[in-house]
Amino acid sequence: MYNYGDCHVCGGKMQAKRVKQDFWIRNKLVVIEDVPAGVCTQCGEKVVSADVGQRLAGALKDTARRRKARTIAVPVIRFAKDVA
Ligand SMILES: [Zn+2]
Repeated sequence: MYNYGDCHVCGGKMQAKRVKQDFWIRNKLVVIEDVPAGVCTQCGEKVVSADVGQRLAGALKDTARRRKARTIAVPVIRFAKDVA
């Protein structure tokens, strides 16, 4: 199993999990499920290995090219304008 080491944010323990990771690609939201990642048990920071990072980049390229992905609808809420 990949060793994620300690959290680079808070020094907490990293736990190997499968996570949903979201990416904004040219104004489109792409979500990749079941991504192997280390998740900090203290602050929730997520890290992926270099290998997984490369596969994610490849999957995102594939999605842009072939459109084989499922599509889900997500609610979009605009933040109030009167907040500075
Ligand atoms: Zn942390």
